[in-house]
Amino acid sequence: MKLLDKVALITGAARGIGRGIAEVFAEEGADVAINDIAAPEKAKAVADYVRSKGRRATTFMADVSKRDQVEAMFESVWNELGPIDILVNNAGIETIVPFLELTDEQWTRLVDVNLRGPWLCSQVFCRRVVAAGRKGAIVHIGSVQAGKVLPGRTHYAPSKLALEALTRNMSAEMTPLGIRVNCVHPGLIDTDMTAWVMKRPDLLPGILAQISLGRPGEPREIGTVVAFLASEEASYVTGQSIFVDGGWVGK
Ligand code: NAP
Repeated sequence: MKLLDKVALITGAARGIGRGIAEVFAEEGADVAINDIAAPEKAKAVADYVRSKGRRATTFMADVSKRDQVEAMFESVWNELGPIDILVNNAGIETIVPFLELTDEQWTRLVDVNLRGPWLCSQVFCRRVVAAGRKGAIVHIGSVQAGKVLPGRTHYAPSKLALEALTRNMSAEMTPLGIRVNCVHPGLIDTDMTAWVMKRPDLLPGILAQISLGRPGEPREIGTVVAFLASEEASYVTGQSIFVDGGWVGK
């Protein structure tokens, strides 16, 4: 087990990729805190899965872009499960809006969740880990759109490409203090976020033709890579962003 007795906090983990990561983490021996913003029942179902694997679990509803809520979440999870070893910044939102129509509010909300959220959760996590004299690992969840243009994403794509810079810069400051920082860029993964694409026979075959593996990925296929990066098996990997996209960006 790669993550035996580690404590992990995963944001946006009530469904989709976050749930896939939580499942793999539990199977690899981690205790898991499941964050979400507004789906306590779904978060509880993920916690039940984690417990079914013999691991401890807790849930905490918080908006990752709000400092008071994030501080309260880390305080609560740290008290309940013990010191947190691993943070996965997975929570994110995607909207598709043409550049000329994008409003201030749409830009601000998306960038707050997708970029400020990982920055804020990481800072609160790192302050605690450093103060406790412990070590840790962070994995940000970016997107294939860090390397690929899709229409209507002039807010989403920059928020995800920025995670590469966040990863490199945080790694430079935090790795010497014992916290490795890496980033995973998922390709087309079968979740609620992409359900609309899966139902578009006019669009889907064209996208799959661009992907070397010729199929969408499953959330757990992101989870296994995140588990590797969070584990001691990746002890010499930090500051890196890796595309887990079935061969889309490179084709
Ligand atoms: P999803 O199915 O829409 O799930 C997103 C999760 O994040 C939900 O559980 C949601 O909570 C939670 N969330 C949203 N805003 C939040 C906030 N402010 N604070 C806390 N939690 C919040 O999305 P997904 O497909 O699993 O995507 C997960 C991550 O992977 C995102 O960062 C996304 O950008 C990235 N990604 C996805 C794909 C893909 O193909 N699916 C590709 C590339 C990158 P609620 O359930 O309460 O709404």
